[in-house]
Amino acid sequence: MQKILLSYFLLASVAGVAQDFRWQQRVEYTMSVKLDVTTHRVLGDQRLVYYNNSPDTLTKVYYHLFFNAFQPGSMMDVRSRTIADPDGRVTDRISKLKDDEIGYQKVMSLNQDGKAATYTVHGTVLEVVLPRPIMPNTKTVLNMKFEAQVPVQIRRSGRHNREGVDYSMTQWYPRLCEYDFQGWHAYQYVAREFHGVWGDFDVKITLDPRYVVAGTGVLQNPQQIGHGYEKPGTKVTRPAGDLTWHFIARDVIDFAWAADPDYAHDRVQVPDGPEVHLFYLKKEKTMDTWKKMQPIAVHVFRFLNERFGRYPFDTYSIIQGGDGGMEYPMCTLILGDGSLDGVSGTMAHEVAHSWYQMALASNEALYPWMDEGYTSFASEEALANPDDKFPHRGAYESYFALVNSGLQEPISQHADHYTTNRAYGRAAYSMGEVFLEQLKYIVGEEAFYAGMKRYYNTWKMKHPEPNDFIRIMEKVSGMQLHWYLRYWVNTTKRIDYAIGQVSAQENNTLVDLHRIGEFPMPVEVVVTYRDGRQELYYVPTNETLANKPASGSVKRMDATPWPWVNPTYTLLINGKLADIESLEIDPTQRMADINRKNNAFRAGSQKPYQDPTRK
Ligand SMILES: [Zn+2]
Repeated sequence: MQKILLSYFLLASVAGVAQDFRWQQRVEYTMSVKLDVTTHRVLGDQRLVYYNNSPDTLTKVYYHLFFNAFQPGSMMDVRSRTIADPDGRVTDRISKLKDDEIGYQKVMSLNQDGKAATYTVHGTVLEVVLPRPIMPNTKTVLNMKFEAQVPVQIRRSGRHNREGVDYSMTQWYPRLCEYDFQGWHAYQYVAREFHGVWGDFDVKITLDPRYVVAGTGVLQNPQQIGHGYEKPGTKVTRPAGDLTWHFIARDVIDFAWAADPDYAHDRVQVPDGPEVHLFYLKKEKTMDTWKKMQPIAVHVFRFLNERFGRYPFDTYSIIQGGDGGMEYPMCTLILGDGSLDGVSGTMAHEVAHSWYQMALASNEALYPWMDEGYTSFASEEALANPDDKFPHRGAYESYFALVNSGLQEPISQHADHYTTNRAYGRAAYSMGEVFLEQLKYIVGEEAFYAGMKRYYNTWKMKHPEPNDFIRIMEKVSGMQLHWYLRYWVNTTKRIDYAIGQVSAQENNTLVDLHRIGEFPMPVEVVVTYRDGRQELYYVPTNETLANKPASGSVKRMDATPWPWVNPTYTLLINGKLADIESLEIDPTQRMADINRKNNAFRAGSQKPYQDPTRK
């Protein structure tokens, strides 16, 4: 008996371990770099402590060498010159870079725990054969000396862009690739998304003292630096010669910075939130825009803190980088010139990335919709007029346009591998945003926002997967939801419901509903009677196994679930046909129904949808 019990417990504990695959690797970077502002070259010393928390023995490691993308003939160059709809900022510009304009990252030496490692450069990826394998649950120290040339800015990183910012130092150091339960994520850089290892950064940057540096982390020596970092009203004691800026950032996945001698530096405190630093070029119009943007930035932080969970760091920097907008831990680089609306919109989007990428660091190459889509969702809500009940309208329109374009691909596609930039953009940004708004329609508003907070609090400083998100939503709603994730993410199946025959049956009305698209959804039909009364008939799909709670002022009637295999459904309305003014499927338009022309019935006027298979 005892023996039997013992083996039972052993089995149970083994099964438990088998499920526990959510280890994550960890890095501690200590870097000293010197930027020569006449040659645009960086000399760097990198000490990397790498914790192998995986159950695997690692005989190799991989690094990203992003600057190598900015060379004629690189994969980014070829991709941009051969894709049907290239990014207008890139086009063939890489192919025209001269030797002193290209970017590169060269490894000068690399050793592991004092022993030289052998390495090979493959474009933007460095493959390192380790002299000693890294055993599970051990750490190793990798020391590298590197030299880099900062490219003329093509996209994101680089120097001397069209807005006049001297250095946008993003993707600027050899960065260890992430290794997780899916293996190595050593992607060639072709201008899209990133994935990084969680850890700490201790970075010392030495350059000409006229330059103002802004970036990730907290400056450790503000009284030596000045440039607006010092405690207000205190004296700055600067050493002679070049200045060394010392930043520390903890629990981040990357480190970015920018430098320019003409940066203005403002600071504003978010109540119960971070101190926000703003860096922008001292041009009249830019200064005016960036001053006016300050209260908007404060509002965005307060709104996102309240709705989606607390921002996890004490500081944040909004930096004019002069090219589009890109999110980094504790900072963003955005364009600086442009209208207040334009710059603020970009700022709000990049700030929202502090939640959906810098805290919830999903693999954005594999799941760009969890990064760009969730971010767009949050920033649209943060910037919406409080009277606007549907700030996600634009995302739906964008999705419908994608469907009509014929370019749609499943959003489970790897970000780099979409056939067109357009399909990628609309999939990542618009379909990601619609995914959430439509989920809100399925589970109800209360469960949805509770789920968004629980997701944040459960998964921040980790790398959540799509299933982790939907599991949280299942827990808060009590509904089965993986069908929704699969249809929206893995397929290009569409939603299209229609109202068919409407007929009288004594004191009741029968409404034929048709599922024309293959994508099943819970359906809401709003009945408006001639006396102005309204009722909402809720037809759940049987896949959810539960109904969402009723809400709102319109009386809700719960119909029996619609089995997803059935193309039609007959809805019984407890009211006379003669009393009905109109019927409409989902008048809130939260369901991404690709044909809304067949969603309504108006007494006496409309021709109902005829099912071609039931002549
Ligand atoms: Zn974004």
